[in-house]
Amino acid sequence: MSLIVINGRELLGMRPERVNEWLMAKGLAEDAKVLLELDDGQHESSVQRVVYSTFCWNFQRIWKKTALCARHALLPPARITSNSHLRLMEHSYWDTFDTYLEAGEELDLEYLDLIGCKSANAIYNYAVDELQEWVETLSLDDYSDVVESPEIKHALDTVEPNRRSVAECHDNIGRLLMTSPDLEKNTLSEFCRSRFIMNGQVLQCIGPKGYPTEISSGYFRHPILNSFLTGLNTLYESAAESRSATKAMYYSKDHVEKGEYFQRKMQLGAFPVARLFKGDCGSTKYLQITMSEELLYAFAGKYRLTKEGKLKAIWKNSRELIGETILLRSSIHCQRFHEHGVCQTCFGYLGHSIVRGSNLGHVSSSELCKDASQALLAVKHSDATVDIADIALGDLEQLYLTPSADEEAADLRLLYNSGLKDLRLAVDERYVRNLHDVKVVDDLSKLTLSNTTSLYSLQLWYTDEDGFEQVQRLTVANGSRQASFTLPMLEYIRKAGWTIVEGMVVIDMKEWEYDDSLLSLPVQHANMLEYINDVETFTRSSGKGSGDGARDRLVNYETLDEGLLMMNKMVSSKLNVNIAHQEIVISCMTAISETDARFPRMPSEGVIRPYEDLIRDRSLAGTLSYEHLERIYGNPRTYLNMNRCYHPMDALHADLPEGVTVL
Ligand SMILES: [Zn+2]
Repeated sequence: MSLIVINGRELLGMRPERVNEWLMAKGLAEDAKVLLELDDGQHESSVQRVVYSTFCWNFQRIWKKTALCARHALLPPARITSNSHLRLMEHSYWDTFDTYLEAGEELDLEYLDLIGCKSANAIYNYAVDELQEWVETLSLDDYSDVVESPEIKHALDTVEPNRRSVAECHDNIGRLLMTSPDLEKNTLSEFCRSRFIMNGQVLQCIGPKGYPTEISSGYFRHPILNSFLTGLNTLYESAAESRSATKAMYYSKDHVEKGEYFQRKMQLGAFPVARLFKGDCGSTKYLQITMSEELLYAFAGKYRLTKEGKLKAIWKNSRELIGETILLRSSIHCQRFHEHGVCQTCFGYLGHSIVRGSNLGHVSSSELCKDASQALLAVKHSDATVDIADIALGDLEQLYLTPSADEEAADLRLLYNSGLKDLRLAVDERYVRNLHDVKVVDDLSKLTLSNTTSLYSLQLWYTDEDGFEQVQRLTVANGSRQASFTLPMLEYIRKAGWTIVEGMVVIDMKEWEYDDSLLSLPVQHANMLEYINDVETFTRSSGKGSGDGARDRLVNYETLDEGLLMMNKMVSSKLNVNIAHQEIVISCMTAISETDARFPRMPSEGVIRPYEDLIRDRSLAGTLSYEHLERIYGNPRTYLNMNRCYHPMDALHADLPEGVTVL
């Protein structure tokens, strides 16, 4: 039997609430299949999906030039999920904007936002009015049906108390809940498939609870194999679980406070970058990067210079650029920075979604911090996951070190390299203050590795092929987490001994077994506060730091370009924050000179200065909204510095000088 053809464009002529009635009048059942005819051809769909999709077509109803294609409609096998309408509307929204922009008309995004809001509201209202009889509830039976289903039962019965097995079990259960034909009619499974509940939370209820964490974020060694459904029945299980709960309570207070205060500090510093200018400043300085898979996400929306000399936006799916060295327009090279803003072209396509009249600096610093605050609050939900913070090695370090074969530990192994003759390993004496313990303690396994040695970096001393002495310095810390020598290495040191050369402890590696692990990183749950601290230390650059710490501060980078890429590396290890926002935050840390804190013409022409200096010297309005006011009142510098600049809070403290208007 041939399917009834429904013309999508014809549906645009009626209110979405009427579409269902109209289709029913054609004699179609609610779950009947139909052929939906759109601008790009006919697509098989169902009555329910067509009705749902039409609610998201208000953009096409108003702006007739916008295409109506498969990407704007919910087509089988896609289900209606909690965010289907957002996804469909996102396509229609940007397609409308782009279509009209190409035709030379820039639509007001706030009007498009309004249409989006109204459409979403119409869906909710329609669902509440029309779909009451389909409301589902969840009962314990649904849970027990899930754990009794053969494949999930098998996964639960065979789980073993190690990281890999627990992770596999979670993966399997997660996948089966979403795809198993046995569970198609199960309400719990349906809720998961429609993404009404988070998979992570369901897994804690039916799968092994996994590895609980201590308040310090360290993992307990033994996993909990019971779930909330079976109950945490032993003293160990309930005690360990209670530590996770303690951690959540602890985080929700001091940590959130600290995270929020960091965000406020960032906003105060970034406020003066108030505006996003329309158009192009015409800057001819570019940021040069080699595109990689990881960078593609953060750089989406940036404009790159093509070989033809044109500017073209990069998208998340611009995979053809991977491996290419490309030139990008960047806010750090924007010529309008001294006017307290950047231009749309330097900022990137993302600028279109900056709400008119909002303060750009405020938006960017909020974007940098908001997911971190959310993650601090949600720490308990992510607790059962068993991944340890990945060992992130730099490009140089990867040439000499590699993760060891033991997946249970975060260990690094030294790679054998025949080019390194006469290899010695040298570490700063300060990192290995307790190394003498290896000579006096009989059983080395009794030592706490991180107390014995705690390394930020190490050096490889060797003779190269031409007979010259060489030194290679490697960073072996993950953020603030420092590496320690492993037990095999401590045993080796006990046997081989060491010498001291100019404050460095030097160990001859002649007899070293390259299969043994050399360094161990603490196994910890990825900790958001650690991330916030790292980003704060980096951007605020309060003081230059010394030795190894210096690498973690923006103020120590020669160029802003290098600093930006380092910051992106740090940020993208934990979160997805578009580079456009990071550029703004980092640009605020530049000034004309060491003595003049005003904005340079373009950020990359300025000098990078510590946050505290900038807050003090840039604008008194900013200073007065910060901390330690007594120091400001008592400092003669406050009254002598006349080279100050605009701050949105100026109007709170004084009448603006004549001729100056609030931006
Ligand atoms: Zn510009």
